[in-house]
Amino acid sequence: MPHIPEEFIDQLRQRTDIVDVVGGFVPVKKRGADHWACCPFHKEKTPSFKIDSQRQTFYCFGCKKSGNLFHFIQEMVNTDFVGAIHWLADRYGLAVPEAHRAGGDGAAGEQRRQWREKGQKLLNEAADWYHHLLQQPQAEKARAYLHSREIDGDAIEKFNLGYCLDSWDALCHWAASRGYPPELLQATGLVSQKDGSTGFYDRFRDRLIFPIHDELNRVVGFSARILSPDAKAAKYVNSPESDFFQKGAILYGLNHARASLKTFGHALVCEGQLDVIACHRAGLTNAVAAQGTAFTENHARLLKRSTNNVVLAFDADTAGDKAAQRTIAILHEAGVTAAVVSLPAGEDPDSIFRHGGAEALRSIMSVTEPAVPYMFRRACDIHDLNLPEGKSLIVADVLAAIRPLADPVARTAHCQWLATQLHLPENVLFDALNALQASHAQHAASTPFRPAPGPSDRPAGREPAPFRLPAFTMPEDNEKVWQTILDLVLHFEDLALRLADDAETTRLLPDTPLGMAISRVLACVDQNSWPDAMDALCHDELIRHPTVGAVIAKSAFPYRPKPKAPTPVSAFAASAPGPEEEDISAEKTAQAYQDCRKRLQLAELLRISSEKQLALQTATGEEAKQLMRELTELNRKKRLL
Ligand SMILES: [Zn+2]
Repeated sequence: MPHIPEEFIDQLRQRTDIVDVVGGFVPVKKRGADHWACCPFHKEKTPSFKIDSQRQTFYCFGCKKSGNLFHFIQEMVNTDFVGAIHWLADRYGLAVPEAHRAGGDGAAGEQRRQWREKGQKLLNEAADWYHHLLQQPQAEKARAYLHSREIDGDAIEKFNLGYCLDSWDALCHWAASRGYPPELLQATGLVSQKDGSTGFYDRFRDRLIFPIHDELNRVVGFSARILSPDAKAAKYVNSPESDFFQKGAILYGLNHARASLKTFGHALVCEGQLDVIACHRAGLTNAVAAQGTAFTENHARLLKRSTNNVVLAFDADTAGDKAAQRTIAILHEAGVTAAVVSLPAGEDPDSIFRHGGAEALRSIMSVTEPAVPYMFRRACDIHDLNLPEGKSLIVADVLAAIRPLADPVARTAHCQWLATQLHLPENVLFDALNALQASHAQHAASTPFRPAPGPSDRPAGREPAPFRLPAFTMPEDNEKVWQTILDLVLHFEDLALRLADDAETTRLLPDTPLGMAISRVLACVDQNSWPDAMDALCHDELIRHPTVGAVIAKSAFPYRPKPKAPTPVSAFAASAPGPEEEDISAEKTAQAYQDCRKRLQLAELLRISSEKQLALQTATGEEAKQLMRELTELNRKKRLL
C-alpha cells in the first residue's frame, strides 16, 4: 500500500467537511445541530442518515451503516482508504475553505489538547527521524550491531528501530528547524537540561533506538541501547516519566500483542525489548515486556483486560528468579494465573532464537510450570528440605505466592498440595497462611482465611447430597450490556476511570468490535488522555461496526450539561435545546454502570456453573468433591450479586 504521510491525511481532515462531501451525493438538510439526508446506501423517503459535522462521522438509523468521512467515500465510490484520499484530494485540493470543528472543552482544555497533540506529533516524527538515520552512513555501528543480533529488515520496520547521532545537539537542531519549542522537547523527554543553565542537550546519543508505543500505536517514549561494548555508560537510557510516558502503564510490544492475547489464551512476559522482538519473529505474537521497570499491578491490569493467564519468561539467574517471584505475587493478587518458562541457564528468548531459530524458541516457550510448583522447586534449590529450618523457609517462600490468591478454593488446594510435598499436616500450613494474611496490614480489612471444607471435615461414609442450582433466567444479551458500557465510558470520564480499575469487569471484555472499542477507550485512559477517546474511535475502522457506530451517533444517556462554550451564531442559530441537552445525574449513570457490571458478572457465573455441572455428571471421587466445592463457592458469589 502506498505510504501517505499522516500529516497530509490530517491536512485533508482539516480542509474538508463530511457535510459537503455527502451533500455532493444526496441533498442534506440541517436540523438542530445535526445534518440529515436520505441514506445513499438504502432506499428511503424520510431522512434517517445522520451526519455529525463536529466528529465528521455518519450513521444511518435505517441500515445501520456508519463511519467517518473516508469510510463514506470508500462506500460511495467503491474504493479503499488510499483511493478515498486521492478522490478527496483531487476534488478539494487546497482551494476548499477550512472546515471548523467545534469543541466545547473551553480554552484551557483546548490548549492542553493542542499541547498534547503537538508533543505526540513530535514523538512520532522523532521516531521516524531516528528510523531514517539508521540507514545513513553514520549509523554503520548500529547496523552492524543489528546484524550481529540477526535482526532483519522486517523486524526493524515492525518495531520502527532507529539510531541517534553521536552529537549533543543534532536532535535540538532538527526539532528547531521544524518549529518545535525547547519546552516541548523537554516535556517529551527528548532532551536534558544543562546543569546550572537554561540550555538543553540531546538525551540520546550514539545509541540504538527502540521507540515505545502505547496501545494506540502512538510513540510515547524511547529506550536507547548503548553500542560500544566497552563504554562505561548505562546499557540503556530510557525516556523519563512525563505527561507522555508513564512506564508503569506501558508494556513494550502490547500494541502488536493485544490482538493475539485471546487467541493464545495467555500473555508472554519477557524481560527486554530484544526478547519481545525475538518472540514476535518466532510467531509468539503474545509477547510483551515491562518497560525499564519492574512489573507492576498496573501492568497486570492491562493484561487482565484480555487474558487471565500470564507466562513469565525471565532469565535463569538469581535476578530473574527474584523478578519472577515478585511478579507472581503481583499477578496472583490481581487474580491472574501465573506460570513460568524455565529457560536454559545463560540464555534468554533472544539468544535462543538466534542460536536455535523459531522452532527452538517456540518449543521452549511451550513448556511451562505453574507458579506454585515453580516457587516450591526454586525454594528447595535454596533451602535444605531435610532441615526443620529449611522446611520453614520453604513454606514461607511458597506461601508468599499462595497468600495473594483471591480464590479460597485455589488457596486451599495449593496448601494441601504443599502439605503433601513437605509431609506436614495441612492444618499447620493453614495456620501459617492465616498468620501471613494477618501480618499483611493492607489486607487487614479482608475476611480471615478459612479453609474450604475438605474431605476430613465430612462425616465418614456419607456422600454429600447432589448439588442443585436454583432455577435461573438468562440475563439479557451481553452484547446489549457491553453497548451500554461503551456508551457510558465514552461519554463520562468518571465511569471510564472506574472501568479501567475494574478488573473483574474488564477481564470479561469480549473479543468483538464492541469489546475492542471499549479497550480503545481504556487505552486512552491509561495514557491520561480520555478526552481523545472519541476522536480515536471516529478515526478507527471500528466505527464501521453498526453497534459501535450507533453508540457514537447517539448516546442513550443525554449529556450532563457542561459550561457552554460560545458558539458561532450562524452555525447553531436554529438549534433549540432538545432532549439531548437535558440533565442526567451522575447517580443515574453510575447506577446504569453498576447494573451492567452485575449482569455481566452474573452471566459469567452462570456460564462457569453450567460448565462445572456438566463436568460433575461424569466426575467421581476427589474430582467430584472438588467440583462440588467450586460450585458452592460460585453459588455464594452469585448470592452476593
Ligand atoms: Zn441507510
